[in-house]
Amino acid sequence: MLGSGDLRRYSRHLLIPEVGLAGQGRLRAARVLVVGAGGLGAPVLQYLAAAGVGTLGIVDDDRVDLTNLQRQVVFGESDVGRPKASAAAARVRDINAGVCVEPLPIRMVAGNARAIVRGYDVVVDATDRFATRYLVNDACRLEGKPDVYASIFRFDGQVSVFAPGGPCYRCLFPQAPPDGSVPSCAEGGVLGVLAGMVGTWQANEALKTILGIGTPLVGRLALIDALAGRVREVALATDPACPLHGDAPTIVDVSDDAPDDVAPAPRGVAPLAASELDAFLAARPLARILDVREPHERALGPAPQAIEMPSSVLEARLHELDTAVEYVVACRVGAKSRWATQRLYDAGFRRLRHLDGGLLAYAAARPEFPFF
Ligand SMILES: [Zn+2]
Repeated sequence: MLGSGDLRRYSRHLLIPEVGLAGQGRLRAARVLVVGAGGLGAPVLQYLAAAGVGTLGIVDDDRVDLTNLQRQVVFGESDVGRPKASAAAARVRDINAGVCVEPLPIRMVAGNARAIVRGYDVVVDATDRFATRYLVNDACRLEGKPDVYASIFRFDGQVSVFAPGGPCYRCLFPQAPPDGSVPSCAEGGVLGVLAGMVGTWQANEALKTILGIGTPLVGRLALIDALAGRVREVALATDPACPLHGDAPTIVDVSDDAPDDVAPAPRGVAPLAASELDAFLAARPLARILDVREPHERALGPAPQAIEMPSSVLEARLHELDTAVEYVVACRVGAKSRWATQRLYDAGFRRLRHLDGGLLAYAAARPEFPFF
């Protein structure tokens, strides 16, 4: 299967008894789907391409943004604005022309998830959304494919392999965390190098799965703490109550009902589109923006004439607010503010609006606000 050029190219693999000629052939024959060409996908795609994995599918419906370059090292400055799937595919082809790349610039949804997953041997979940993780998990289990999972936030990462017969993501997290309780990387940030550390763990697990060597992270969750420089391991057991593959499964197909990582719009409060904010404030002299970003987030850009009250101290400072004033509650991307709006509503405030998409959406059309 391997030509003479391949023997030279993969010689450092061929020297390892656990890989060898047979293992390299397995890699060549393997079809791996990488869902998400972001911080985790960047090392996964590049190392799997370099390792000689024969076919790499890349699912991502996003475009490269300047803020991605801090950690998504599969892209360069010239890629900003390009679809991630095709930009990553170009990089993979440059690393290894022998790899067949299948860029899929679409969002994985219930309507296509199983059909996409079905065409591959191993699936790498490199997404950053809770809803997509449940979707990938369910599609993989229903199609009998191993799901190599990882996630990252700030300095912390976790990796596991949800293989048929072992525990799955729903065994680990039966329910999505409460709305707004877990910020995304866009909301809370992530150390760029952590994406590389955790993504390479993921690539390693994908390679081990293909080669059938070593001890896979099945039934085990590796917790990587970049700040402490420590890796811990937690044992995972199959949950008999798992709705996907427990004693009495209730999930027989994938659905888009999976919980999203964005809190629902606060009950009883109308959202305010970012494009309407200026006109809204101009028409209501008593209305104020309530900026619930933390001080370090405010350093990214000011909100016009806002009352600054970080969500972390909202509870303690509620008495400073006036129920007669109309507040437009705003944060950076509109997740924390949903929680804050709900809290204010529950505390008796009724003159509330919630800034949809956050100050990021407001600033997008205004060069005078240098948000990023
Ligand atoms: Zn399960």
